Amino acid sequence: MKGILLLLSSVLLLTGCATTQSPTGRGQTLLFSQQEMTELGDSSFAQIKQQEQASQDKAVNSYVNCVANRITRALPDQSLPWEVVVFESEQVNAFALPGGHIGVYTGLLDVAVTADQLATVIGHEVAHVLANHSNEQVSRAQMTGAGMQLADLALGAGGIADKELYMAALGLGVQVGYILPYGRSQESEADVIGVELMAKAGFDPAASVDLWKNMSKAGGEQGPELLSTHPSHGQRIAQLQQMQAKAQPLYQANKPSVKNTCQRPK
Ligand SMILES: [Zn+2]
Repeated sequence: MKGILLLLSSVLLLTGCATTQSPTGRGQTLLFSQQEMTELGDSSFAQIKQQEQASQDKAVNSYVNCVANRITRALPDQSLPWEVVVFESEQVNAFALPGGHIGVYTGLLDVAVTADQLATVIGHEVAHVLANHSNEQVSRAQMTGAGMQLADLALGAGGIADKELYMAALGLGVQVGYILPYGRSQESEADVIGVELMAKAGFDPAASVDLWKNMSKAGGEQGPELLSTHPSHGQRIAQLQQMQAKAQPLYQANKPSVKNTCQRPK
């Protein structure tokens, strides 16, 4: 035990661990630099693209890109070009990765049945990245992960000791076989940031309530990230309803003209 604590403290010293505040004021332990997170996101996305089949459906691609691009254009930091890929799969799933990558599975489109509902999911996923939840998760995986990984880092072996552990921590659990779900506080934080983001992008935040109701009905068929039981669907919906008073005026101010709406393919 003592050995592990010693190792752990040297890990923290070596990597210049930063305890920072999340956008809603939670304390966060972040072991990785922005650059390291970007590299991790880039390589994980490259791997997913090799594993999964990209959708060739032009209408579906342009619809998902339309929604995702409006969300990313509403971000305060415009320095990053975001890559959006639609994967052909029945999984009800979507994810966003550091470095600017968004993956949407076609199965999600059966649950997120309007552009505003799809924007809810994409906004939520991008919010996990914006709020450094991916860094937080990967840091937690590093600290609580197998002693091997701690030892590797402490010994200065450097690099990623266990790619799959990190991919799971990034929310890609189903692809690598084990799931490390986000916690309740991260989930509600992603809801708060995501709803504000979708409203700024001109999507109706009221759709977030419908989306999570649909998710609740879809039950066990949801993907791992969206399946997260924290917070419960009931709590989540209550929180989203409370947020409407603040989010609706933001939406009204940014509502696009009819010709700029994203058309869901028939
Ligand atoms: Zn989430």
